[in-house]
Amino acid sequence: MKEIEAAETPEAIQALSIQYLGRKGVVTQLLRAVAQLPPEARPEAGRMANAVKQEIDAACRQALERLESDPAGRMERIDVSLPGRPMVPGTLHPITQITQEICDIFTRMGFEVVEGPEVETDYYNFEALNIPKNHPARDMQDTFYVSEDVVLRTHTSPTQPRVMEQRQPPVRIIAPGKVYRCDSDLTHTPMFHQVEGLLVDAGISFGDLKGTLTAFIHQMFDPRTRLRFRPSFFPFTEPSAEVDMLCVMCRGEGCRVCSQTGWLEILGAGMVHPAVLENVHYDTARCTGFAFGMGVERIAMLKYGIDDIRKYFENDIRFLAQF
Ligand SMILES: [Zn+2]
Repeated sequence: MKEIEAAETPEAIQALSIQYLGRKGVVTQLLRAVAQLPPEARPEAGRMANAVKQEIDAACRQALERLESDPAGRMERIDVSLPGRPMVPGTLHPITQITQEICDIFTRMGFEVVEGPEVETDYYNFEALNIPKNHPARDMQDTFYVSEDVVLRTHTSPTQPRVMEQRQPPVRIIAPGKVYRCDSDLTHTPMFHQVEGLLVDAGISFGDLKGTLTAFIHQMFDPRTRLRFRPSFFPFTEPSAEVDMLCVMCRGEGCRVCSQTGWLEILGAGMVHPAVLENVHYDTARCTGFAFGMGVERIAMLKYGIDDIRKYFENDIRFLAQF
């Protein structure tokens, strides 16, 4: 009785019930032993053994009821009529989704996905790309210097010379990754994502570049999207172009997103500068190529209509769950 009183869980009571009343229990054995007694002693012994059995049984039931009605009791109750608790699955970050979508489109066009280091030498980040020390073009990018000759890469372009050093044309690569600049406001974060593209082979022309980028934009946004190539300057391409697409919000009418111009700047591109090809010992008489680079956040902002780049990095689940 003391043991039953002290039991704190239904399992403990169950165990006591088995210990005393089970098939091999103490009381069960007592009841069996009654048959061995002299006939005149059996009725009284049987009555007593049965009384003990019933008393223990009743005490066990009572103890179970006590645990069940006690709110602090650890009795597990399952109401099968209650709705289940839904599992909330995670989703890929919108930047990851867009990066994968960009890579998928170019992979289907025959490009191979490659990656390069985020901590990069000055040589690959600048010099190999025709940006020598003290070149004014270095001021175009606010660089994080790790040491005099080591930087956090300011663009994904260093993958161009890195890959070309390793192989001969044809080269068809797409290189996604993080890049870093000392810059922070509504449309800039110190870390952001780019996708670099490079194609080098015999007889590659600016027409190939236009066709490839047009096919990409048509798949990424809308097959009716018009593109515009504006002359521009990058040290590692010549000629260079900024590529605009017709505003996805107003279809060219002019709105706040496109600053009333009807066009959105979407990426930079150009024909690979011969100096870049010479740096990796390619035969510039035989092969030419094009390169392009785009900001993943920018593409995601235009695709999803997001106006503040910082939303991507605040980790607000209400924002992220929408993708
Ligand atoms: Zn617009």
